[in-house]
Amino acid sequence: MTERGTAVVTGASSGIGAATGRALAAAGFRVVLGARRLHLVEALATEIGSQAQAYPLDVTDPISVDAFCGHIDDCRLLVNNAGGALGLDPIATADEAKWQTMYDTNVLGTLRMTRALLPLLVTSGDGHVITVGSVAAIEPYPGGAGYNAAKHAARAVMDVLRLELVGQPVRVSEVDPGLVETEFSLVRFEGDRDRAAAVYEGLTPLTAGDVAEVIAFVATRPSHVDIDQVVVRPRDQARVWLVHRDGT
Ligand code: NAP
Repeated sequence: MTERGTAVVTGASSGIGAATGRALAAAGFRVVLGARRLHLVEALATEIGSQAQAYPLDVTDPISVDAFCGHIDDCRLLVNNAGGALGLDPIATADEAKWQTMYDTNVLGTLRMTRALLPLLVTSGDGHVITVGSVAAIEPYPGGAGYNAAKHAARAVMDVLRLELVGQPVRVSEVDPGLVETEFSLVRFEGDRDRAAAVYEGLTPLTAGDVAEVIAFVATRPSHVDIDQVVVRPRDQARVWLVHRDGT
């Protein structure tokens, strides 16, 4: 069942990206899955079956982006999901290398993938770019500056893309999740499992599947319906920094 055409999902080796690969395949897309950990995207493609393919992809490396996109002949949907945060340092002690990686992945990675696949999205006659942003794209928080800046920038890129493409058959959408329990915090805190687990302690976070369902919903509206932005967060989270935890 691939009647909806080809969807490309970046960062499909874990979390929201992997769940989105599954959800889009179930919704009738052929899915092309990319991430640096090839064995994980290959395992996911095997699990999904013949309508899935997996290739290595590092969105921070233009050569890798070119090689990945070289496997793609047609594309109706691009899900720019690859991304994440590094650290929670205040500006006073900000680590420039972490900021550069966050910008390279969340912003330039999104640019590279979108620019590379835009011709195919336009010629599909019904293209769609969905970028996984974050509530961090809307709500600054202490310690979040590097990630806030990157996600705000990615949001600006999508807003400009929508302006530049008006009149062309491509929709531009942004899905901005709050707390989702994935590898996100483990990566942010460089493998510190206790610190990562504490982020979700005493509350019910979103699952990757919850967000993937929203992405699949956005992707399967009729062609004239462009859902610009969806903010989805756990009931226990009113703002990035205002979270209810059991016992608090
Ligand atoms: P995750 O489980 O850590 O997944 C991140 C994915 O991005 C992985 O598949 C990772 O794959 C991929 N990735 C990272 N750097 C990459 C690169 N240079 N090239 C290609 N792929 C790369 O976290 P997640 O929560 O699912 O995150 C997915 C997206 O949701 C991110 O954009 C994140 O900022 C956003 N988000 C997450 C939350 C949350 O609370 N979890 C909230 C709001 C927004 P490899 O390491 O295999 O390359």
